[in-house]
Amino acid sequence: MKTFKGGIHPPEEKQLVKDNPIVDFPLSSRYHVLVQQHLGAPAKPVVKAGDEVRKGQVLSEPLGFVSVPVHAPTSGRVKEIGRIVHPVTGLLAPCVVIDADGRDEWAEGLPMERDPFAMSRDELLDAIKTAGVVGMGGATFPTHVKLSPPKDKTIDTFIVNGAECEPYLSSDHRLMLEQPERVLKGAGVVMKILGLDRATIAIEANKPDAIKLMREKAPAEIQVEALKVKYPQGAEKQLINALTGREVPSGGLPMDVGAVVQNAGTCAAVWDACARGIPLIERITSVTGRGIVQPKNIRVRVGTLLREVIEFSGGLNGAAKIIFGGPMMGIAQFTQDIAIMKGTSGVLVLREEDTNITDYSACISCGRCVEACPMGLIPSTLSKLGEKGMWQKAKENNLLDCVECGSCTYVSPANRPIVHFVKHLKALSRAASAKK
Ligand code: SF4
Repeated sequence: MKTFKGGIHPPEEKQLVKDNPIVDFPLSSRYHVLVQQHLGAPAKPVVKAGDEVRKGQVLSEPLGFVSVPVHAPTSGRVKEIGRIVHPVTGLLAPCVVIDADGRDEWAEGLPMERDPFAMSRDELLDAIKTAGVVGMGGATFPTHVKLSPPKDKTIDTFIVNGAECEPYLSSDHRLMLEQPERVLKGAGVVMKILGLDRATIAIEANKPDAIKLMREKAPAEIQVEALKVKYPQGAEKQLINALTGREVPSGGLPMDVGAVVQNAGTCAAVWDACARGIPLIERITSVTGRGIVQPKNIRVRVGTLLREVIEFSGGLNGAAKIIFGGPMMGIAQFTQDIAIMKGTSGVLVLREEDTNITDYSACISCGRCVEACPMGLIPSTLSKLGEKGMWQKAKENNLLDCVECGSCTYVSPANRPIVHFVKHLKALSRAASAKK
């Protein structure tokens, strides 16, 4: 079975939630919609306190090409342009607070009916940008940008990422099982944009039901490939390597080896945007872990508070840590007053016995992190440079190629938080560039 070099085998723990069908989270009375939910240039609010808004209405306009709008998740009145803790940065960030009116009325003209296959490439890209579609696997890079490679890059490979290699999470798995048509039709739209006549859906072998269903439903031009279960199989560069044997060069992007990867959820959002004009205002999220009473896969609107999500899932049960995302790449949270975002693939609640909240010690040069690193880096060196803040030296050691998968941290017998050091070094490097 196809795979990549390096990687690890953490316990899967998907059994907690993988067989739970998607349930709709009920309409909330108030939403906190973060203005910045994507990588790239910021967006600017275009509504003010007191404005009436409808579901799907634009709340913020993108400032630049690499940026997207956010939209109202329901109808109601704007209470304020407030601030709320951003789940990624941990800092207060602007959000549009909406008091729902309970009518849940769509903005005028939404949803619409149109045939994406009768639209031009530019019209499709515009529909995707207008709908605020971003990478829903967690990366949140604007999708219209990823689908607009420069003219000198020839794309011959399109991969739909259904690997979902993070332990615990099952949101993409449930999506593929319950709404395969949305994924497949969205993949068809992406193929049209890229000018390709074939694509591959890549799914880890621990989802045999999704592999079987996708094989039954997929048209001949979309091949379904089962991949070996190994983390981080769903990382873009590892996925491309496993399926094509190509290696994205140091400092390069998938387009440098002719490939584009889109998450299964993103494909579904592309279909909604292009066929029905529906913006990205909701997503499927796995709420799971032994620290939550009733693990669920929920269809939840962007801007819903974590506090409400936890309550809907039966409350906490000896919780020690709450993470947005999976255990390997997710981000631990310090408050329940944060909002679901477009990239929130999971809410993971761990009990103390499932965490490792202990101190770290000096590197013992065992080499396990080197074996585990899927990017061929020397994580132990990066971690030592991280302790000293030596970002320039770390860049010489390919710091920027680190995909922050956390495999090195997972295997470190000295418990070294290597990926934290890497993030710190990258932040120092960014700050130095900004100053320059
Ligand atoms: S150095 Fe980066 S890419 Fe390599 S294992 Fe660690 S986090 Fe993953």
